[in-house]
Amino acid sequence: MRRVYLDHSATTPVRPEVAELVCKYMTVHFGNASSVYSFGREARKAVENAREQVAAVIGADPAEIIFTSGGTEADNLAIMGVAYANEKKGNHIITTQIEHHAVLDTCHYLEKKGFEVTYLPVDEHGLVSIRDLENSITDKTVLISVMHANNEVGTIQPVADIGRIARGRGVYFHTDAVQTFGKIPVNVKDMNIDLLAVSAHKIYGPKGTGCLYIRKGTKMNNIMFGGGQERKRRPGTENVPGIVGFGQAAEMAAAEMDQQMTYLAKQRDRLIAGIFKSIDHVKLNGHPEKRLPGNVNVSFRFVEGESLLLSLDMKGIAASSGSACTSGSLDPSHVLLAMGIPHEIAHGSLRMTLGRGNTEEDIDYVLEVLPEILNRLRAMSPLYHQEKESKECCQSVH
Ligand code: PLP
Repeated sequence: MRRVYLDHSATTPVRPEVAELVCKYMTVHFGNASSVYSFGREARKAVENAREQVAAVIGADPAEIIFTSGGTEADNLAIMGVAYANEKKGNHIITTQIEHHAVLDTCHYLEKKGFEVTYLPVDEHGLVSIRDLENSITDKTVLISVMHANNEVGTIQPVADIGRIARGRGVYFHTDAVQTFGKIPVNVKDMNIDLLAVSAHKIYGPKGTGCLYIRKGTKMNNIMFGGGQERKRRPGTENVPGIVGFGQAAEMAAAEMDQQMTYLAKQRDRLIAGIFKSIDHVKLNGHPEKRLPGNVNVSFRFVEGESLLLSLDMKGIAASSGSACTSGSLDPSHVLLAMGIPHEIAHGSLRMTLGRGNTEEDIDYVLEVLPEILNRLRAMSPLYHQEKESKECCQSVH
């Protein structure tokens, strides 16, 4: 059976070149980057080279890159680090209702510690309003955290405008760029970004590694203790193989970014058009234009996202759904609900995120299989039959 992986926003396969390098830094150049002898110096050199590779992708100075265990840790460090270090100035944080839980849960935690958090709403396409954001800033605001692009619906936020406003008002600006780094252009200087979180496993690098860009001069505390690594910002023996693999993956992603953006957007649009052509009662979630090149998120009425996923899996297709049933809750995605999508429509959502390995034939296969699955699932839905009958009845009257 054909196997089609359409969940690149969840994770990506490691590039063979990267895997080879990671392996070399596990088995041959295995030294501790803090050791003074040659094994250690080799490891140190490789870590510093990776720092340069990652910094180059976002126009940062290598000294502004702090390696972490991934996007979640980078978000935690940015938000808690800035909040605690600037508590004397104020205790107010601004974020959005559609952030990843790495940001939302950190903000919820800080609320319990006495901080006040404004969770900005979004419009029906998942965009924040710049005016809302400006109006929310007070003299107690110390941090604005708005993601660059949403992991579920792919909507790209006006990060450069937010950065300009934040800088103008003397408020730190953090952006979760886990879904955009190496995929669409990001420049921390041009966009006035103070802190930016990245994860390696979304760009064909290894899991468990990532980084936080921290603009020089940013006042922030540590959230972990135990060693002087990473400019005393993030203690613990460096994950040398992971960091080296991350650097290589970052450089390779940047080199093919333009070509991939064009290719993925073309396949994405073909997939969306094909779905709308062959399936009724479907809605595109997210912004029609300001969306990630590889993101397709659609809601089908009269089906459950989970049954759709299982049926696709039986046909070898891996995708994800906007309902959070897999995490033990039956609530639909907080992102879709924040966009004003009703529960019953959010429950029938399907996210397919394309990557560099997907071919045109993969898209053809999905377009062949998906209508069959929907017909079968909808045939079991009494609501679908009711809707069909009422439509036929109306058509015969007019
Ligand atoms: N932020 C966003 C937007 C994400 O999509 C993810 C991963 O899904 C993360 C943060 C967490 O990154 P990591 O898996 O490296 O901890």
